[in-house]
Amino acid sequence: MIQYPERIRRARLPTPVEPARRLSHQLGVELLVKRDDLTGAALSGNKIRKLEFLLAEAGAEGADTVITCGGEQSNHCRATAVAAAELGLRSYLLLRTDNPKEPPAADANILLDKLVGAEIRWVSRDEYKRRAQLFVEVRGQLLAKARKAYVIPEGGSNALGAWGYVACVEELAQELGDKPLTIVYAAGSGGTGAGILLGIKLLGLPWRAVGVNVCDDREYFVAAIGEIVEQAMQRWKLDIKFDRSEIEILDGYVGIGYAKSRPEELETIRDVARAEGLILDPVYTGKAFHALRSELGRDARAFGERICFVHTGGIFGLFPKARELDPLL
Ligand SMILES: *Cc1c(COP(=O)(O)O)cnc(C)c1O
Repeated sequence: MIQYPERIRRARLPTPVEPARRLSHQLGVELLVKRDDLTGAALSGNKIRKLEFLLAEAGAEGADTVITCGGEQSNHCRATAVAAAELGLRSYLLLRTDNPKEPPAADANILLDKLVGAEIRWVSRDEYKRRAQLFVEVRGQLLAKARKAYVIPEGGSNALGAWGYVACVEELAQELGDKPLTIVYAAGSGGTGAGILLGIKLLGLPWRAVGVNVCDDREYFVAAIGEIVEQAMQRWKLDIKFDRSEIEILDGYVGIGYAKSRPEELETIRDVARAEGLILDPVYTGKAFHALRSELGRDARAFGERICFVHTGGIFGLFPKARELDPLL
């Protein structure tokens, strides 16, 4: 029995795990999809799993506001803003954009942020690099107005948030049993990957986990995921063995940059939608699935016989790409 930290329940769990029959046939493997795109509607995706733990801590500390940060179309910021509204908390988002003086239109995730009343501060790429300092500043400004803020790091990716993906692995073990399996997931800030690794270890499963980085590089994610796992081991005195060399990152699929799409990635999204009725997103799951498909095309046994792709959500990210996608349809 895993002892979890305090948690509030907002995600629709357990999410189903489904066979992708036609893709399995095409790719020559048994492909399953863990449908974490179904954790909610406005809440959809992986971030609400981490927020269940982070928002419990915010509540325990008596916070009335949550502050977090991300790219302009951040799924994490949208999930945070929606979950905060569900709990009667306020949200304050630091959103990164090219030119804060001309912020983007209220499209997709931004529309939802605004709809649920998030306060938004647009920050440049340079300012975003010193976000830790900005968090302190904003927290101070809110305190001056007698508001108590709880800071959630980018992506909700820290040791506490990682428990959300320990819970996901526990669901998978209940759903699939303990036959060998390779879990494939998209890595953006590392919390999902760290939680998956912790879950596999805490449950002693004979499973591999392969993260596809959608930004930065392998070295960056080995450090980011390694640090979160090690912090969790320390903070909760977890009785597991871990070495950073165990972290598997499949690098080489960032393409032309974070949140930027190559035509072949968009084609993969289209093909998966048509084969299975499964809607991937352009920023994370589309890239990760494109990586999986490309690697299997080279070596059908690269990930063993049974693969579980974690669909971490992100559907709203498709809408700002409508014009790029349309010519392929
Ligand atoms: C944030 C996000 C990821 C990456 O998860 P991390 O825990 O940040 O690595 C993957 N997919 C989607 C849709 C996301 O929004």
